[in-house]
Amino acid sequence: MIILDDKTNCSGCHACANACPKNCISMVSDEEGFWYPQVNKEKCIDCGLCEKVCPIIHKWQPDDSRKTTAIAAINLNEEIRLESSSGGIFTLIAEKIIDQGGVVFGAAFSDDFKSVRHICVDNKADLEKLRGSKYVQSKISDTYKHAKEYLDSGRKVLFSGTPCQIGGLYSYLRKPYENLLTQDIICHGVPSPMVWEKYVEKRERKAASEMQRVFFRHKKYGWKSFSMAIEFTNHTKYIRTLLEDPYMRLFLSNSCLRPSCYSCSFKTESRQADISLADFWGVQYTAPKMDDDKGTSLVIIHSEKGVNLIKSISPFIVSQEIDMDVVLRYNPALIQSASKNAHREAVFARISSYDIEDIVNDLFPIKLKSKVKSVLSKIGISNSLIKIKTIMIRRLKRS
Ligand SMILES: Cc1cc2nc3c(=O)[nH]c(=O)nc-3n(C[C@H](O)[C@H](O)[C@H](O)COP(=O)(O)OP(=O)(O)OC[C@H]3O[C@@H](n4cnc5c(N)ncnc54)[C@H](O)[C@@H]3O)c2cc1C
Ligand code: SF4
Ligand code: SF4
Ligand code: SF4
Repeated sequence: MIILDDKTNCSGCHACANACPKNCISMVSDEEGFWYPQVNKEKCIDCGLCEKVCPIIHKWQPDDSRKTTAIAAINLNEEIRLESSSGGIFTLIAEKIIDQGGVVFGAAFSDDFKSVRHICVDNKADLEKLRGSKYVQSKISDTYKHAKEYLDSGRKVLFSGTPCQIGGLYSYLRKPYENLLTQDIICHGVPSPMVWEKYVEKRERKAASEMQRVFFRHKKYGWKSFSMAIEFTNHTKYIRTLLEDPYMRLFLSNSCLRPSCYSCSFKTESRQADISLADFWGVQYTAPKMDDDKGTSLVIIHSEKGVNLIKSISPFIVSQEIDMDVVLRYNPALIQSASKNAHREAVFARISSYDIEDIVNDLFPIKLKSKVKSVLSKIGISNSLIKIKTIMIRRLKRS
């Protein structure tokens, strides 16, 4: 049975809990708000399946016969592109699967916005729930089991998620399916669901209202200078750039990520997924014609299925081939884990009792900005700082 002596060895993918034939594994939140498997020893029959399906215990070995290629891509539908985090390519590939009678799994907010979990969508209107990055760990629950039921019935399935969630799915399935397509992301890491919940409570208290829409990557001030934007049921709005918003400051300074994200087992150039999606940071230097600051996707294609899927959406995109060296230069998060912030433990020690804004201002008065600055320059968007500073000065003058 699964025994965790080191939390960095568990990404919380839920593969063990989905696979247990006795349903004796519960995913339980620890004091930082991250889920870990807990085995009911009374019910366990010691079959060993949970260990067999763990993608960290049994690491996937990259297949040398697979060739990795990359393109910069933009969805020609401007409305969808503006609602998406990058160039809006996820919606196009998901629509393609739905056109073929398939279903799409991905991350959506709960009704009260306090958490994020994986859901299954079978129509284009509901894809709106999956659109846009949610920078919070998404709970897989029993979606691997549901995906398997669809696959066994012969229905096409697109499963999207972080690389560890895609790794967990493949390990859980334990056999290849022709009707399965997978899409992962270049993954910075996932923040704690508990920190997000505290942030939601703070924003709702301040607005004296409930959230009704949230965008982690609003493009009002541009894609490179993205903002956290929230709409409340009392028609008030909150918008702050990545340097001003306390939640984004914690996320981008690596102060509230899951322990496994600091030594991620899934950071490889070749991936298990058919396609990886990301922001094409550095586009202004390497493919300037593809940059209008409304969002450009980086699409990394790993398999024949991925090649065919991208071919099928080609009438609806503008694209340009990109060398993998360029990808690695501007988006090293493809292969490198985030480094842990020295104040991470202090953040978690205070998060239950103190205001999130006070924690950020107290622990990271100026230093955090330079940390964020270094993350931004690593991902090639440091020029946006000048624009963000101008926005901040204007806002200060108004208040
Ligand atoms: C936690 C996280 C970290 C990321 N880190 C980076 C990074 O370091 N560098 C980079 O270039 N890109 C990163 N991305 C990817 C990027 O933000 C975009 O999601 C990606 O480029 C797809 O954009 P899009 O415009 O095609 O589609 P969008 O509509 O913006 O993306 C939707 C897709 O994101 C998935 N998704 C949204 N939230 C989550 C979540 N919490 N967990 C799992 N899947 C989720 C949906 O299931 C769907 O597949 C990250 C995304 C997430 C969620
Ligand atoms: S050993 Fe088997 S029964 Fe026990 S927890 Fe693991 S999967 Fe479940
Ligand atoms: S990584 Fe996934 S399968 Fe392995 S112990 Fe953690 S939740 Fe279970
Ligand atoms: S950084 Fe690695 S462990 Fe963390 S969520 Fe992303 S893929 Fe999973």
